[in-house]
Amino acid sequence: MAYSYDPQNIFARILRGEIPNNTVMETEHTLAFADIFPQAPVHVLVIPKGPYVCADHFGLAATDAEIVDFNRTIAKICAQLDLQPGEGGQGYRTISNAGDVAAQEVPHYHVHILSGRPLGRMLQPA
Ligand code: AMP
Repeated sequence: MAYSYDPQNIFARILRGEIPNNTVMETEHTLAFADIFPQAPVHVLVIPKGPYVCADHFGLAATDAEIVDFNRTIAKICAQLDLQPGEGGQGYRTISNAGDVAAQEVPHYHVHILSGRPLGRMLQPA
């Protein structure tokens, strides 16, 4: 099945400048901004500027430059916010929801970076 990208999704509108955002970092291919409804003291969303729906779409269809830039941006944000566990930081969690089973709300690929409080185990019991 082909991926279908909705250009009216809220992150596409942020990328077009139609909706404001609290930018944390911006590069050629990637934008990172504060989540409007933070689940932890640190809650940053990292999105590619290209029209990708979810992680598997991005991994299959994005260019090498986009993929490298995206992953480097996550690392640079962790450094900027002193989150790197290998450098004395408190650590963090990345989450990327895809599709209905994960309750993905916004159909534009994004990674959540969460930190600033104990985050517990990865999943709550069903
Ligand atoms: P997900 O459930 O993984 O699709 O997460 C979507 C996230 O986008 C949620 O954590 C929302 O709080 C966040 N969000 C929705 N609209 C905005 C917005 N305009 N600016 C920043 N974050 C947003």
